[in-house]
Amino acid sequence: MDDKLMRVTVLGSCGTFPTAGRACSGFLVEGSDGDRHARVWVDTGSGTFSNLLRHTTLAALDAIWVSHLHMDHVSDLPAVNYALRFGRDDRRPSRLPVFGPHGWADHLRAFLTLDSVEPTERGRDTLDEAFEVHELHDGQRVDLGPLRLTAMATLHGVETYGVRAAVGDQVVAYSADSGPCPALEALAADARLFICEAAWLDWDENAPPMHLTPQLAGEYAARAGAQRLTLTHLRNLRDPQVAAMRAKAAFGGEVSLAREGDVFELGGPGGTL
Ligand SMILES: [Zn+2]
Repeated sequence: MDDKLMRVTVLGSCGTFPTAGRACSGFLVEGSDGDRHARVWVDTGSGTFSNLLRHTTLAALDAIWVSHLHMDHVSDLPAVNYALRFGRDDRRPSRLPVFGPHGWADHLRAFLTLDSVEPTERGRDTLDEAFEVHELHDGQRVDLGPLRLTAMATLHGVETYGVRAAVGDQVVAYSADSGPCPALEALAADARLFICEAAWLDWDENAPPMHLTPQLAGEYAARAGAQRLTLTHLRNLRDPQVAAMRAKAAFGGEVSLAREGDVFELGGPGGTL
Protein backbone atom coordinates (compact mmCIF):
# COMPACT_ATOMS: atom_id res chain seq x y z
CA MET A 1 0.00 0.00 0.00
CA ASP A 2 1.12 3.55 -0.72
CA ASP A 3 1.76 6.49 1.55
CA LYS A 4 -1.25 7.44 3.75
CA LEU A 5 -3.62 4.97 2.24
CA MET A 6 -6.68 3.29 3.64
CA ARG A 7 -8.46 0.32 2.19
CA VAL A 8 -11.80 -1.15 3.21
CA THR A 9 -12.91 -4.56 1.98
CA VAL A 10 -16.52 -5.61 2.51
CA LEU A 11 -16.63 -9.07 4.08
CA GLY A 12 -20.35 -9.12 4.75
CA SER A 13 -23.23 -6.71 4.33
CA CYS A 14 -26.46 -8.63 4.98
CA GLY A 15 -28.73 -7.37 7.69
CA THR A 16 -29.69 -9.66 10.59
CA PHE A 17 -29.22 -12.98 8.75
CA PRO A 18 -27.18 -14.15 5.75
CA THR A 19 -28.51 -14.97 2.29
CA ALA A 20 -27.18 -17.50 -0.23
CA GLY A 21 -23.45 -16.91 -0.74
CA ARG A 22 -23.51 -13.72 1.29
CA ALA A 23 -22.55 -12.86 4.86
CA CYS A 24 -23.65 -10.73 7.80
CA SER A 25 -21.77 -7.62 8.89
CA GLY A 26 -17.99 -7.48 8.58
CA PHE A 27 -15.26 -5.27 7.09
CA LEU A 28 -11.50 -5.46 6.76
CA VAL A 29 -10.03 -2.00 7.38
CA GLU A 30 -6.38 -1.43 6.50
CA GLY A 31 -4.20 1.63 6.88
CA SER A 32 -0.66 2.51 5.85
CA ASP A 33 1.57 5.55 6.31
CA GLY A 34 4.24 4.22 4.00
CA ASP A 35 6.35 2.67 6.77
CA ARG A 36 3.74 1.00 8.92
CA HIS A 37 0.70 -1.04 8.00
CA ALA A 38 -2.24 -2.11 10.17
CA ARG A 39 -5.24 -4.36 9.63
CA VAL A 40 -8.37 -4.59 11.74
CA TRP A 41 -11.36 -6.83 11.17
CA VAL A 42 -14.46 -4.86 12.14
CA ASP A 43 -17.44 -7.05 13.08
CA THR A 44 -17.34 -10.81 12.81
CA GLY A 45 -20.80 -11.56 11.48
CA SER A 46 -21.80 -14.94 10.17
CA GLY A 47 -19.77 -15.87 7.05
CA THR A 48 -17.23 -13.08 7.36
CA PHE A 49 -14.40 -15.29 8.64
CA SER A 50 -14.42 -17.31 5.44
CA ASN A 51 -14.49 -14.11 3.37
CA LEU A 52 -11.68 -12.57 5.45
CA LEU A 53 -9.41 -15.46 4.53
CA ARG A 54 -9.77 -14.57 0.85
CA HIS A 55 -7.88 -11.35 1.63
CA THR A 56 -5.60 -11.92 4.63
CA THR A 57 -4.79 -14.27 7.51
CA LEU A 58 -5.45 -14.17 11.22
CA ALA A 59 -1.67 -13.98 11.71
CA ALA A 60 -1.58 -10.74 9.74
CA LEU A 61 -4.36 -9.04 11.71
CA ASP A 62 -3.55 -6.40 14.33
CA ALA A 63 -6.95 -6.57 16.02
CA ILE A 64 -10.61 -7.46 15.84
CA TRP A 65 -13.28 -4.87 16.65
CA VAL A 66 -16.75 -6.08 17.68
CA SER A 67 -19.31 -3.27 17.58
CA HIS A 68 -21.90 -5.08 19.71
CA LEU A 69 -22.97 -8.51 20.80
CA HIS A 70 -25.91 -9.15 18.49
CA MET A 71 -25.25 -12.46 16.77
CA ASP A 72 -25.19 -11.04 13.24
CA HIS A 73 -22.09 -9.05 14.26
CA VAL A 74 -20.25 -11.52 16.48
CA SER A 75 -21.14 -15.11 15.58
CA ASP A 76 -17.88 -15.94 13.74
CA LEU A 77 -15.76 -15.02 16.77
CA PRO A 78 -15.97 -18.51 18.35
CA ALA A 79 -14.70 -19.95 15.04
CA VAL A 80 -11.76 -17.54 15.18
CA ASN A 81 -10.97 -18.81 18.67
CA TYR A 82 -10.96 -22.38 17.36
CA ALA A 83 -8.74 -21.46 14.42
CA LEU A 84 -6.21 -19.74 16.67
CA ARG A 85 -6.12 -22.64 19.12
CA PHE A 86 -6.30 -25.59 16.75
CA GLY A 87 -5.41 -24.29 13.28
CA ARG A 88 -2.05 -25.05 11.78
CA ASP A 89 -1.80 -22.03 9.49
CA ASP A 90 -3.28 -19.34 11.69
CA ARG A 91 -0.98 -19.49 14.66
CA ARG A 92 0.23 -16.10 15.77
CA PRO A 93 3.31 -15.25 17.81
CA SER A 94 1.04 -13.38 20.23
CA ARG A 95 -2.61 -13.34 21.20
CA LEU A 96 -5.02 -11.48 18.94
CA PRO A 97 -6.33 -8.26 20.55
CA VAL A 98 -10.13 -8.11 20.47
CA PHE A 99 -11.97 -4.88 21.28
CA GLY A 100 -15.64 -5.15 22.16
CA PRO A 101 -18.38 -3.95 24.49
CA HIS A 102 -18.30 -4.50 28.24
CA GLY A 103 -18.52 -8.20 29.15
CA TRP A 104 -17.97 -9.57 25.64
CA ALA A 105 -15.30 -11.97 26.82
CA ASP A 106 -17.46 -13.49 29.57
CA HIS A 107 -20.27 -14.18 27.10
CA LEU A 108 -17.84 -15.82 24.70
CA ARG A 109 -16.12 -17.83 27.43
CA ALA A 110 -19.49 -19.20 28.49
CA PHE A 111 -20.36 -20.07 24.90
CA LEU A 112 -17.02 -21.78 24.24
CA THR A 113 -17.02 -23.85 27.41
CA LEU A 114 -20.79 -24.33 27.76
CA ASP A 115 -20.36 -22.97 31.29
CA SER A 116 -22.60 -20.44 32.94
CA VAL A 117 -21.86 -16.81 32.18
CA GLU A 118 -20.02 -16.59 35.50
CA PRO A 119 -16.30 -16.64 34.63
CA THR A 120 -14.54 -19.94 35.36
CA GLU A 121 -10.87 -20.89 35.22
CA ARG A 122 -11.59 -23.23 32.33
CA GLY A 123 -13.31 -20.46 30.41
CA ARG A 124 -10.48 -18.08 31.13
CA ASP A 125 -7.90 -20.50 29.76
CA THR A 126 -9.99 -21.31 26.71
CA LEU A 127 -10.48 -17.73 25.66
CA ASP A 128 -7.30 -16.09 26.88
CA GLU A 129 -5.10 -18.57 25.09
CA ALA A 130 -6.16 -16.98 21.82
CA PHE A 131 -7.46 -13.48 22.56
CA GLU A 132 -6.20 -10.40 24.36
CA VAL A 133 -9.31 -8.87 25.94
CA HIS A 134 -10.07 -5.15 25.59
CA GLU A 135 -13.36 -3.48 26.51
CA LEU A 136 -14.50 -0.36 24.68
CA HIS A 137 -16.01 2.82 26.05
CA ASP A 138 -17.46 5.87 24.35
CA GLY A 139 -14.78 8.13 22.92
CA GLN A 140 -12.01 5.59 23.40
CA ARG A 141 -9.10 5.90 21.01
CA VAL A 142 -7.20 2.86 19.87
CA ASP A 143 -3.99 3.28 17.88
CA LEU A 144 -2.85 0.38 15.73
CA GLY A 145 0.31 1.44 13.94
CA PRO A 146 -0.76 4.29 11.65
CA LEU A 147 -4.46 3.48 12.06
CA ARG A 148 -6.33 5.62 14.61
CA LEU A 149 -9.66 4.17 15.72
CA THR A 150 -12.22 6.04 17.79
CA ALA A 151 -15.17 4.29 19.41
CA MET A 152 -18.46 6.19 19.38
CA ALA A 153 -21.51 4.88 21.21
CA THR A 154 -24.61 4.64 19.03
CA LEU A 155 -28.28 4.09 19.86
CA HIS A 156 -29.15 0.43 19.50
CA GLY A 157 -30.74 -0.96 22.66
CA VAL A 158 -27.54 -2.80 23.60
CA GLU A 159 -24.08 -1.31 24.15
CA THR A 160 -22.86 -0.56 20.61
CA TYR A 161 -19.88 1.31 19.19
CA GLY A 162 -19.50 2.72 15.72
CA VAL A 163 -15.93 3.31 14.67
CA ARG A 164 -14.17 6.22 13.06
CA ALA A 165 -10.97 4.94 11.46
CA ALA A 166 -8.31 7.34 10.22
CA VAL A 167 -4.83 7.53 8.76
CA GLY A 168 -3.86 11.20 8.69
CA ASP A 169 -6.86 13.02 7.21
CA GLN A 170 -8.21 9.95 5.46
CA VAL A 171 -11.30 8.88 7.40
CA VAL A 172 -13.66 5.94 7.12
CA ALA A 173 -16.70 5.87 9.41
CA TYR A 174 -18.83 2.84 10.17
CA SER A 175 -22.15 3.30 11.96
CA ALA A 176 -22.38 -0.25 13.31
CA ASP A 177 -26.09 -0.71 14.10
CA SER A 178 -27.86 2.44 15.19
CA GLY A 179 -31.10 4.28 15.42
CA PRO A 180 -31.17 8.04 14.92
CA CYS A 181 -28.71 9.73 17.30
CA PRO A 182 -26.35 12.74 17.30
CA ALA A 183 -23.29 10.49 17.51
CA LEU A 184 -23.70 9.52 13.85
CA GLU A 185 -23.01 13.05 12.67
CA ALA A 186 -19.82 13.27 14.74
CA LEU A 187 -18.82 9.77 13.73
CA ALA A 188 -18.98 10.55 10.01
CA ALA A 189 -17.83 14.20 10.11
CA ASP A 190 -15.94 14.90 6.87
CA ALA A 191 -15.41 11.18 6.28
CA ARG A 192 -14.20 10.15 2.87
CA LEU A 193 -16.38 7.09 3.17
CA PHE A 194 -19.36 6.57 5.47
CA ILE A 195 -20.53 2.97 5.75
CA CYS A 196 -23.97 3.30 7.27
CA GLU A 197 -26.58 0.80 8.20
CA ALA A 198 -30.05 1.04 6.64
CA ALA A 199 -31.84 -1.98 8.00
CA TRP A 200 -35.35 -0.65 7.53
CA LEU A 201 -36.62 0.46 4.13
CA ASP A 202 -39.40 2.39 5.88
CA TRP A 203 -39.44 3.86 9.36
CA ASP A 204 -41.24 1.60 11.84
CA GLU A 205 -43.19 3.65 14.37
CA ASN A 206 -44.00 0.55 16.41
CA ALA A 207 -40.44 -0.70 16.89
CA PRO A 208 -37.80 0.73 19.24
CA PRO A 209 -35.62 3.23 17.33
CA MET A 210 -32.67 0.88 16.84
CA HIS A 211 -32.08 1.07 13.08
CA LEU A 212 -32.00 3.59 10.25
CA THR A 213 -33.74 3.87 6.91
CA PRO A 214 -31.83 4.68 3.68
CA GLN A 215 -33.30 8.17 3.81
CA LEU A 216 -32.02 8.73 7.35
CA ALA A 217 -28.60 7.34 6.39
CA GLY A 218 -28.53 9.83 3.53
CA GLU A 219 -29.54 12.70 5.82
CA TYR A 220 -26.79 11.89 8.33
CA ALA A 221 -24.20 11.56 5.57
CA ALA A 222 -25.19 14.99 4.21
CA ARG A 223 -25.15 16.65 7.64
CA ALA A 224 -21.77 15.10 8.44
CA GLY A 225 -20.25 16.30 5.18
CA ALA A 226 -19.27 12.76 4.17
CA GLN A 227 -17.93 12.44 0.64
CA ARG A 228 -19.40 9.07 -0.18
CA LEU A 229 -22.07 6.83 1.37
CA THR A 230 -22.27 3.06 1.28
CA LEU A 231 -25.37 1.40 2.70
CA THR A 232 -25.05 -1.84 4.60
CA HIS A 233 -27.17 -4.14 6.80
CA LEU A 234 -30.10 -3.94 4.39
CA ARG A 235 -32.59 -6.54 5.47
CA ASN A 236 -34.59 -8.72 3.19
CA LEU A 237 -35.17 -6.20 0.42
CA ARG A 238 -36.90 -7.20 -2.78
CA ASP A 239 -35.52 -4.18 -4.59
CA PRO A 240 -32.35 -2.78 -3.00
CA GLN A 241 -32.13 -0.10 -5.68
CA VAL A 242 -35.11 1.60 -4.04
CA ALA A 243 -33.00 1.92 -0.90
CA ALA A 244 -30.10 3.39 -2.90
CA MET A 245 -32.39 5.89 -4.63
CA ARG A 246 -33.90 7.07 -1.34
CA ALA A 247 -30.46 7.48 0.24
CA LYS A 248 -29.18 9.38 -2.80
CA ALA A 249 -32.16 11.71 -2.77
CA ALA A 250 -31.45 12.59 0.87
CA PHE A 251 -27.65 12.71 0.55
CA GLY A 252 -27.11 14.26 -2.85
CA GLY A 253 -23.73 12.55 -3.28
CA GLU A 254 -22.53 9.18 -4.45
CA VAL A 255 -24.30 6.19 -2.88
CA SER A 256 -23.60 2.49 -3.26
CA LEU A 257 -24.85 -0.70 -1.68
CA ALA A 258 -22.10 -2.62 0.14
CA ARG A 259 -21.49 -6.01 -1.39
CA GLU A 260 -19.13 -8.81 -0.35
CA GLY A 261 -15.76 -8.31 -2.09
CA ASP A 262 -16.20 -4.57 -2.66
CA VAL A 263 -12.91 -2.71 -2.10
CA PHE A 264 -12.69 1.01 -1.34
CA GLU A 265 -9.33 2.76 -1.45
CA LEU A 266 -8.67 6.21 -0.01
CA GLY A 267 -5.60 8.36 -0.48
CA GLY A 268 -2.50 7.18 -2.30
CA PRO A 269 -1.08 8.84 -5.40
CA GLY A 270 -4.41 9.82 -6.93
CA GLY A 271 -5.86 10.97 -3.62
CA THR A 272 -9.29 9.69 -4.54
CA LEU A 273 -11.44 6.74 -3.66
ZN1 LIG B 1 -27.63 -5.13 16.19
